[in-house]
Amino acid sequence: MPASLAPLWDDGTWSALPVLEGDVEADVCVVGLGGSGLAAVHELLASGARVVGIDAIGVGGGAAGRNGGFLLAGLSSFYHDAVRTLGRERALAIYRLTMAEMARMQAETPTLIRTTGSLRIADSADEEADCAAQLAAMQRDGLPAEMYDGAEGRGLVVPTDGAFQPLERCRTLARYAVDAGALLFERSPAVDVDAMGVATPNGRVRCGRVVVAVDGGLERILPELRGRVRTSRLQMLGTAPAPEVTVPRPVYARWGLDYWQQLPDGRLALGGGRDVGGDAEWTDEASPSETVQRSLERILRDRLGARAAITHRWAATVSYTSTRLPVAEQVRPGVWATGAYSGTGNVLGALLGRAVAQAAMRGDSPLLAPFA
Ligand SMILES: Cc1cc2nc3c(=O)[nH]c(=O)nc-3n(C[C@H](O)[C@H](O)[C@H](O)COP(=O)(O)OP(=O)(O)OC[C@H]3O[C@@H](n4cnc5c(N)ncnc54)[C@H](O)[C@@H]3O)c2cc1C
Repeated sequence: MPASLAPLWDDGTWSALPVLEGDVEADVCVVGLGGSGLAAVHELLASGARVVGIDAIGVGGGAAGRNGGFLLAGLSSFYHDAVRTLGRERALAIYRLTMAEMARMQAETPTLIRTTGSLRIADSADEEADCAAQLAAMQRDGLPAEMYDGAEGRGLVVPTDGAFQPLERCRTLARYAVDAGALLFERSPAVDVDAMGVATPNGRVRCGRVVVAVDGGLERILPELRGRVRTSRLQMLGTAPAPEVTVPRPVYARWGLDYWQQLPDGRLALGGGRDVGGDAEWTDEASPSETVQRSLERILRDRLGARAAITHRWAATVSYTSTRLPVAEQVRPGVWATGAYSGTGNVLGALLGRAVAQAAMRGDSPLLAPFA
């Protein structure tokens, strides 16, 4: 059976939103309707702003609707690495903010989120020592983590992490936003962004402030971020129900380079192998490659022992910074940007989407302090 290029998460039931035609006015325009942009839209609505949101593809059309579905606290770097680079106070403040954001996400869309915990599994003695160092740093700072030695291997478990349906969450947030008065447009790419507004091929949003909430391709929309932000492709595959395999909670293996989870109906979603793809993965092209897909297939068959058919193969782009600290700041007068979560943006993106929305309205946000 040929695999679908759509993500496993797409049940095909979305009714498209309109294209922006002509001029509209708003207090704030949000560019990008992934998890981060939609968090910004809701924060803006709550502050009483008139909001227009636009997306080049559609709601959840980028990484936000095409990812692994892990909800992980913290930055993309492991906690002890974040402590080393940022200092204990900032690393801990960021970790706590992301834990609070996860609780908020759970309250917003309770049926789409499962608090399963997550596993980090070591693939070598070196990595086992690194897991021990991570565990020690987390426990010293009172963060929830325990040693793990079980069927998947050895490492650590973070009991407060979870899994979710990323595309359905974006769609649900978009429906709520439209009901609350936001004007959202699909297939409407921003081609020009400044403090006066946002131009798209068929229309313009006139507004005083703009929030750009785009992960992959952020440096293409805002070229001043080139050199600091770099776009990369990440890939996944999905299977039919695999009753021969039991994965009770999302697994992060080989320094986080490979990852998989099993949905309640038994299907598997497995991603990673970015390093196997090499330099070819530094690309804007969001389509699966043979090299990486072969590597994912080997993990599925040889490591997990799954025999189920592969039904989906998909890719999307995200962006990275060398420090692993995301971008969340005013980049042009009146234009705020958030993105570059270095591969772990589901929770961080929601948090920083809200943070830049607050900053766009009030000039600053307390949520941004530990990221500055
Ligand atoms: C395969 C894969 C697996 C991943 N797994 C995980 C995981 O398990 N856990 C985790 O935390 N993170 C994961 N990530 C990262 C995570 O998906 C992203 O960091 C996060 O979803 C980013 O969401 P976002 O809303 O910031 O950006 P995006 O999803 O990139 O959304 C931006 C939106 O902007 C739109 N856009 C782009 N350019 C324009 C333009 N010019 N005009 C208008 N709209 C535009 C896009 O169409 C898109 O819909 C993964 C990513 C991938 C690709």
